[in-house]
Amino acid sequence: MTPNLLILGGTTEATALCKALAEREMRAQVSLAGRVERPVRQPLPMRSGGFGGVEGLARFLKAEAISHVIDATHPFAARMSANAVAACAETGTPLVALTRPAWQRKAGDDWQSVPDIPAAAEALAGPARRILLAVGRMHLADFAPNPQHFYLLRLVDPPKERPPFPDHVALVSRGPFTEEGDRALMRAHRIDLVVSKNSGGQGAYAKIAAARSLGLPVVMIDRPEIPARHEVSEVAAVLDWLDHAGTDLGV
Ligand code: NAP
Repeated sequence: MTPNLLILGGTTEATALCKALAEREMRAQVSLAGRVERPVRQPLPMRSGGFGGVEGLARFLKAEAISHVIDATHPFAARMSANAVAACAETGTPLVALTRPAWQRKAGDDWQSVPDIPAAAEALAGPARRILLAVGRMHLADFAPNPQHFYLLRLVDPPKERPPFPDHVALVSRGPFTEEGDRALMRAHRIDLVVSKNSGGQGAYAKIAAARSLGLPVVMIDRPEIPARHEVSEVAAVLDWLDHAGTDLGV
C-alpha cells in the first residue's frame, strides 16, 4: 500500500519534514490549526482548522485513508498531541512524534522552573519589573493579574485585542532570532526578567542564551504532559521510521 501521510504541523520542524517528504515525492498533507494569519508556505497540500477532537480526527484518518500520522506540533500543543495518540490508537494508525528535546539548564543559567503558565503568572507577583514575555498571543490574558510590570511582547501576529497591561511594547516577528539580536533587544528595553516556555529548538533559544550572558533570571515554563508515544527529534529519524513503520518497529 502506498503510504498516505498526515503531518500535524505549525513548527519549523514540521516545515523541514514537509520539504523532505516533498523531495521524496511522498503522498502527504500537512494540517495547521489556522491561528496564524499568514502561515509559512508548505511544500505539501495543506489543510487548516481543528478536526473536532479525538472523534473528529479518527473520522478524518479513516475518510482520508491516512496510513501514518507524524505529530510535528509544538511541545506545548498538548491537546492536539493527546488527541493524535487517542485517535491513532482507535484507528490503528502508526504514529510518531517529531519533537525538539527540552532545553537543559547550563552553567550561568538562573532559571526558576514553573509547571505551567498560571504558575508563571503567579511567579510575577511583586514589585514592577521589566519583563520579556515570550508565551504567545493566546496566553497574554493569564498575565493580567500582574499589570504593574513593563512587558516586552514578541508575537507572530499583531495582538487582536489590546494586551491587558498598560505598559507594554508588542514586537511582531516570527524569528528565528539570534543571541546577539536578543541581547541588544533586552538591553534596549532594560529587561530584567525573561518568561519563556521550555520550547526547545534553536531559534527560540536566543533569548535564553542572551539572558544567561546578561546575568538575567528566567521564569522557565515546563512542558505539559503528553501521553506515551514514539518520539524522535530529527527529520531523518522520521524518514527512517516511515521505512519501517507497519513492521514491529512501527509503533
Ligand atoms: P492545542 O492547544 O494542543 O490544540 C487545541 C486544538 O486546536 C486541538 O484540539 C485541535 O482542535 C486544534 N489544533 C491544534 N493544532 C492543530 C493542527 N496542527 N491541525 C489541526 N488542528 C489543530 O494546540 P496549540 O498549542 O493551540 O497550538 C496550535 C498550533 O500552533 C499547533 O499546530 C502548534 O504546532 C502551533 N504552535 C503552538 C505553539 C505553542 O506554544 N502552543 C507555539 C508554536 C506553534 P480539534 O480538537 O478541533 O481537532
